[in-house]
Amino acid sequence: MRIVKIIIYRIRLPFKRPFAHARSFRRETENIISESLTDRGVSGFGEGVPRDYVTGETPDSAVRYLSQQNYSFLSDEIPSLEEGIRRLRAWEIDVRRQGEVFPGAARCALGLSLLDALTRSYGVGIGEIARSAEGLLQEGRRASRVRYSAVCSGGSVASVIATLLKYRLYNFVSAKVKVGWSERRDLLFTRLARRILGRATDIRVDANGAWDTRTAITMIGKLEKYRISSIEEPLMPRYRGDLPRVRESVRIPIMLDESACDRDQLTQAIESGSCDMVNIRLSKCGGFFASLEMANILRERGLGYQLGCQVGESGILSAAGRHFAFLVPGIRHVEGSYDRHLLEQNLTEEDPTFGYGGWASPLRGPGLGVTVKREILDKYTVEKHEIELREEPVHRRARLHV
Ligand SMILES: [Mg+2]
Repeated sequence: MRIVKIIIYRIRLPFKRPFAHARSFRRETENIISESLTDRGVSGFGEGVPRDYVTGETPDSAVRYLSQQNYSFLSDEIPSLEEGIRRLRAWEIDVRRQGEVFPGAARCALGLSLLDALTRSYGVGIGEIARSAEGLLQEGRRASRVRYSAVCSGGSVASVIATLLKYRLYNFVSAKVKVGWSERRDLLFTRLARRILGRATDIRVDANGAWDTRTAITMIGKLEKYRISSIEEPLMPRYRGDLPRVRESVRIPIMLDESACDRDQLTQAIESGSCDMVNIRLSKCGGFFASLEMANILRERGLGYQLGCQVGESGILSAAGRHFAFLVPGIRHVEGSYDRHLLEQNLTEEDPTFGYGGWASPLRGPGLGVTVKREILDKYTVEKHEIELREEPVHRRARLHV
């Protein structure tokens, strides 16, 4: 098989209700969808969620990146699933930052669409690639279901209480509380979470890079009494050099998110003693294999990792996250698959939203195991680019259809 065309869609999906954290407030999401078409008429879909405060990307920069991408690694015939996976993985790992920008979301969209097209072409699901991805995935008994964690966004005190009560009724056993608003609100929200969700619930907090070094040390100290299992991204970008000092000064384990997007940042964070855990997100880290690589590095170094998501992921990224959660051992917490609770309409026919208690089963079927609804994709598309790939020498032609 050969990939003959890539289509890039920029889409705007409205939310049922707003979502807020210390760095953003949104009622809709702008995502990038990539479609990879093979010479045998198979289509694969992928998705990325560009956020400037995460990877430095914007929807514009992501579209530009994909339009100017060198697609020569796709120009040859792909003779087998194993070879396709080998080539895709090599491409995902060979990534360079562009100044302040790490093109994680753009590459995730493209990489997932290629993985979906590749596995569909061979009639296998992503869950079955362990056999073809030798040395990448630890073999072992796969779980029959995974349990997702709740995430409590900010808002009025009444809305936070209502959300926490819902989570309790839904029987979640772990939850993340967004902090970084003000000392009063942070302590109030965390206390409410502990009270409402009960003693046995695993509660962690995420400051989304809201604090300076002194505030972080003070606040983390004050949060200790609520028995917090980790504090995510405590420091503003300009104070990141102080992470080892913060980590030494507090008792709650430090989880990095925005400051650990790629392998270089991860290695540097590990070497400087900046973290105990990392929040791996497919869109942030540049795709399935790039994220797998990060999990492998963390596991080798004896550090922890959770699987996170971007707010506003459609069923495509939720499906990819589901496969990742089943394939990768030792994930501390799984976030994502909030589809039905957040999106007015989903792009996929299948609804990957978790069920009661946060429980979810593996997705079956070829590729990602979800089917994109063309009419919904068209409805929310605001920009579309088609890139035709020719056999060597590669000629790329990008045409703009708005
Ligand atoms: Mg975070």
